[in-house]
Amino acid sequence: MKAVYFDRCGGPEVLRHGERPDPVAREGEAVVRVRACGINHLDLWVRAGLPGLEPEMPHILGNDVVGEIVAVGPGVTHVTVGDRTLVNPALSCGVCTACATGDNHLCRSYDVLGRRRNGGYAELVSVPAVNCLPFPGSLSWEEAAAVPLVFLTAWHMLVTRAHVAPGEDVLVIGAGSGVGSAAIQIARLIGARVMTTVGSDDKIEFAKSLGAERVVNYRTQDFVEEAKTWTAKRGVDVVIEHIGGETLERSTYALTRLGTLVSIGSHDTHWGRLDLRHVYSKNLKIVGTNLGSILELRTILDYVADGRLKPVVDRAFPLKDARAAVQHVLDRKNKGKVLVIP
Ligand code: ZN
Repeated sequence: MKAVYFDRCGGPEVLRHGERPDPVAREGEAVVRVRACGINHLDLWVRAGLPGLEPEMPHILGNDVVGEIVAVGPGVTHVTVGDRTLVNPALSCGVCTACATGDNHLCRSYDVLGRRRNGGYAELVSVPAVNCLPFPGSLSWEEAAAVPLVFLTAWHMLVTRAHVAPGEDVLVIGAGSGVGSAAIQIARLIGARVMTTVGSDDKIEFAKSLGAERVVNYRTQDFVEEAKTWTAKRGVDVVIEHIGGETLERSTYALTRLGTLVSIGSHDTHWGRLDLRHVYSKNLKIVGTNLGSILELRTILDYVADGRLKPVVDRAFPLKDARAAVQHVLDRKNKGKVLVIP
């Protein structure tokens, strides 16, 4: 099969397009012909090298896979060759207490497809058959591949971790990112008001089209001041933050009393500083979040199939141009998800 792979960690230049052996369907697994695969920030980190992570080498990235099942291994009964599927990217043991209660994202052997195990930047990928979910509604391949990781992350942080309620004020940092574009929609679905930030004026209309009431260009405006103005000096109830560094610190300044700061990533830096006086004097809550459960993903897919949540596709690149697709994300040119198409 054709695949994009790398055999040593490094910059985007280590990605190579070439031939790799076809995966085989082992016991309990299915081989999926990949029709579209989403690019995520996790891919960028794995490629650059994460301490302690030893991915299968040569390594094929790619968490968000949709396609057709072309082979199933022994013991697989709930899916069959020819089924269209959206692959749940979360890998877990399936038997521990967390897995048994539906909180598979809390499993101690939790992983994501494409992180250690080979993923979807390829014509074919083998996955645990239990991860093959029914394809959602009448979506295109591209739309469906834009859903799993970012919508699951956004749902879990807003609904389960931050308990966002109707009428609350939510600040989403970075409308242009995949998680940002999903978070704005989910917060609106709940009935919250949304303010968001963008890095260029050409993303303002895009952010408004997703449901954001107030859009701030963080390069030319102070998002803390704007949040205060937007809430009549009160401050927002929840901030969704995935940049780190100064943005993390300033996010606490934008929060009202009893507000919640949700950390879902560290795209600029893995380090952040806090003025603790803001944390204790305002009774702030700081919560981390990492993906979400299989039950949440199934709920999301129902909303997506109904058209109440819309996948946001920025651009689909041919698989052989994966390096350009990655650079497009690194340059923050995207409005929503970037995909590769084998
Ligand atoms: Zn488990």
